[in-house]
Amino acid sequence: MKNNIIYIFCALFMQNIIAQKPQTPTPSEIYFKIEKLNVLASAMYIAAHPDDENTRLITYLTHHDKAYTNYLSLTRGNGGQNLISNELGTDLGIIRTNELWNARNIDGGKQFFSTADDFGFSKHPKEAFEKWDKDLLLKQMVYMIRKEQPDVIVNRFDHRTEGTTHGHHTASAQLSKLAFNLANDKNYKDLSQENAEIWQPKRLFFNVSWFFFGSKQAFDKADKSKYIPLNIGVFYNQLGKNNQEIASLSRSQHQSQGFGDMSSRGEEIDYVELLDGDALKSSKLFEGVDTSWNRIKGGSNIQPLVTQLIKEYDFKDPSKSITLLTKIYSEIDKLPDTIWKARKQSEVKELIKNCAGLFLDITTNEPYTTPNQSVDVKVEVANRSNQNIVIKDVTINNNRTIVDKSLTNQEVYYDYFQTKFTNQDYTNFKFIDTFNDFKNQFNATKKNEIGLEVNGVYLSYNLPIQYHYKDVVKGEIYKPFHIVPAVSVRFNQSTYITNNKQDQKVEIVTDNYSDENLKGILSVTNSKNEEVYQKEIILNQNEKNNSLIINKNFLNDTYKAHFKQNVNNYDNETKWVDYNHIPVNYYTKPSETKIVSFNKSVLKKSKIGYIVGAGDEIPQVLKDVGYNVDFINLETVKADELSKYETIIVGIRAFNTESSLKTKNKLLFDYVKNGGTVIMQYQTNGNLQTDEIAPYKLTIGRTRITDENAVVKFINANEPVLNKPFKITQENFKNWVQEQGLYYADDFAGEFQPVFTSHDFDEKETNGALLIAKHGKGHYIYTGLSFFRQLPAGNTGALELFINLIELKNE
Ligand SMILES: [Zn+2]
Repeated sequence: MKNNIIYIFCALFMQNIIAQKPQTPTPSEIYFKIEKLNVLASAMYIAAHPDDENTRLITYLTHHDKAYTNYLSLTRGNGGQNLISNELGTDLGIIRTNELWNARNIDGGKQFFSTADDFGFSKHPKEAFEKWDKDLLLKQMVYMIRKEQPDVIVNRFDHRTEGTTHGHHTASAQLSKLAFNLANDKNYKDLSQENAEIWQPKRLFFNVSWFFFGSKQAFDKADKSKYIPLNIGVFYNQLGKNNQEIASLSRSQHQSQGFGDMSSRGEEIDYVELLDGDALKSSKLFEGVDTSWNRIKGGSNIQPLVTQLIKEYDFKDPSKSITLLTKIYSEIDKLPDTIWKARKQSEVKELIKNCAGLFLDITTNEPYTTPNQSVDVKVEVANRSNQNIVIKDVTINNNRTIVDKSLTNQEVYYDYFQTKFTNQDYTNFKFIDTFNDFKNQFNATKKNEIGLEVNGVYLSYNLPIQYHYKDVVKGEIYKPFHIVPAVSVRFNQSTYITNNKQDQKVEIVTDNYSDENLKGILSVTNSKNEEVYQKEIILNQNEKNNSLIINKNFLNDTYKAHFKQNVNNYDNETKWVDYNHIPVNYYTKPSETKIVSFNKSVLKKSKIGYIVGAGDEIPQVLKDVGYNVDFINLETVKADELSKYETIIVGIRAFNTESSLKTKNKLLFDYVKNGGTVIMQYQTNGNLQTDEIAPYKLTIGRTRITDENAVVKFINANEPVLNKPFKITQENFKNWVQEQGLYYADDFAGEFQPVFTSHDFDEKETNGALLIAKHGKGHYIYTGLSFFRQLPAGNTGALELFINLIELKNE
C-alpha cells in the first residue's frame, strides 16, 4: 500500500524546506559559516518572476559579502510556459516556487513572494497595475523592508524603461523605487498593525545586464561610466568552488524554464547602477555601513568572542569551538530583540550542531497520513564529538515529552512516538493571497522540535517530519511527509465536449487515502447546486483511481462532484505535483467539470496525426469532438505512414523540443505537397531545431497579443477558413483566457496569406497570428493563437476556428 509516494510542507509557513538527509558540513565549510557569523550585512533583491533573479549576484552577496540576502519574487511564475510537462497555471506556479527554493538552498539566499498573481504576459507596467493591487503590493514591500532591514536593495529591472520588457518586470522596479523611501516614512502604514520600526536602506541599485542592451556585443561597447563594476569571479577555496560555479548550479534549478546553465571561471564583471541613497566611492555595495557586531546595541560584548572564535578555530577538530559558541549564544540571548539577534542566534545554533557533528532526524515510514489516523514517528539524535550533550525534550506535533538523556561521543538516541493530525494540519501548497499570508512568510511555525542542552545552554532545533525509506535502486530516500484529506474526488476531464442529442459518458475518479473503508454518497450538482446524480458507494481503504462512469444527458453547464461520508463532505481533488528535481507537493482544487455541447455532424475528416511538442491538451479535446487522433513518433515514422492522416497537427514548441524535426521537417513539407494539411501551433523563436520550419520562408518573432479579447479584423471574410464548416465572426474571439496568442510570425514569404490582423491597446496591427500557405495540393498553416489554452478551457469559439483549420479542404 501507499507505494505511490507523495509529500511537502505548507509552503505558507515554511521556507526553503527541501526534503533531504540531515547534512554535516566539512570543517572548512564550517569555517566559512563562522566567518559569516562575523558579518551583519543584509541585502534584498527584487524582481517579478522565478528565474528573473541574477544568481551570480545573489551568490556574490551571500558568499563574498557574506550578507543575509533575500530575493523577493513578486509572483510564482504560474502564467508562464512550461518546458518539462503540459501542466500550466497552479501546477507550474508550484513547480517554479520549488525551483526557487532549490536555487536559494544552493546560493544561500532566502526566498519570499508577494501576493501578486502572474496573470500572464503584459507589455507595460500600466497593464500590470490594472490587474494588481499596486497599493497592497507596495505595503507588502515596505513591510518586508521594515521587517528585514536590508542595507542595500538591488532591482533586477529598470524602473525607467516602460514598455521595453515584461510589464511585471518594470512594475517590480517601480514598486521598489517607491518602497525604498516609504519604508522610512513614519506616516506610511503598511497594514501589519505591528508598528514595525521604520527603516531606511542605505542604497538602491539597478542590476544592469547585457540583455537591456540587446546583445553582449552591444553591452561591451556601451558607455558604462555610470555603472559600478563588481568582479564577481571570486574563488571560495574553503568550498572548492568559485562564484559562477555555485551560481550556475542555482540557476540550473529552473528546469521548467530550460535554464540549465554552464559554469565558468576567472574574472567576471557584473554591473550595478546607484539609483538612490548614499554615493559610493568604491565597488563595495555596503560602503559606509558598519557590518560588524558593533552595529547593534550590546554587540561590542560579542565582537571579541567572535574574533576569538575565528582565530582559534581548529580545522582538525571543530568541536573545540563549541564552548565559545555556547558562550556567544548566551551573550546574544541577553541582547534586546532585533532581526540580527534572531538571525545570529540561529546561525550559532546551527554552528554548534555542525561542530558537534550532531545528527538530528524526525522521520516516519509513511509517505502520508489522513486526519485522525495514527502515525509512527521516529526520532534519532547522534552525537559525534567529545562534547557532552543532553537531550532535554522532544516535541512532536506540538506535544512535548521530557527526555533528559545524556549523549556521549558516538552515542545514538532513538525514540518512537505516535501522533494524530487533524484537517488543520493539511500540508497542501497554497499561494499566498492576503497581507496576513504575506506576513506569515516571516514567522516560521514550530511543531516538531528537539531540545538539547550543551554546556548548560538550552537549544531547540525545529525539524520537519520527513518520509524516510530505502529504495533498492536509489538507496536512502528522504521526502516530505504529507497530511492529506481522506478522499479526493475528480472528473477525469476538466471539459467534456458533447453532442447534446446523446448521453454523455462522464467519469468520476475517487482516491481513498485513509486506512478505512468509507461508505458514503457520491453526487453531482449543477451550477444551481441542484443534485443531478447520486449513488451510494464504498471506497475501499487505500484504493486509488476508483472509477465511476455515468452515462447521462448532461446539459451545457458546470458540474461539481461530491463524496459525503457521515459528517465529512469531500468536494476537492487532491492534485499531486511530482517531479524528480523538486520535493513532492500537493494542492487541492474543486472537483469541477464543464459540459460543452457541440454539433459533431459537421466533421468531414476523421484521421488526425499529432506531433507532441512541449505538451498540450488539444488531442483530448479533438477526441471528444469525434476525431481519431494518433500520436506520431517522429523518430521512427516513414513518409508513407503520414499519408493516412487527413491533417497533421504540430504541438506547441515541437520544433524547439523534438530534435528529429531537424531532418524530418521535409516529411511534413512533402506531406502537404501531396495534399495534406499541417497546422503548426506556436513555436518559440529561440532554440529552434531548424530554421526550416515551413516549406516557405517563415520567421517567428516575439509578438504576442496579451489582451485575450483583442478585436480581430478579417482580411478576406470570404476565405474558406472563415466559413467552412463554421462561419467565423468576432464572436468566436470572445471569452478567451489569458492571452490571444504568442510568438506570431513577423516575417514570411508571399505564399503565406495572413487571415486577420489584431493588436493590443495602443499598438499597431499585427498580421502574424494565423498564416495559411498553399503548397502543392495541400495547406501549411502557422498559428500563434493560444488554442492550447482555449480548447481545454472549453472555449467553443476558438474550437470552431480550429476545426475550420483541420477541415480545410485540399485539392
Ligand atoms: Zn520575468
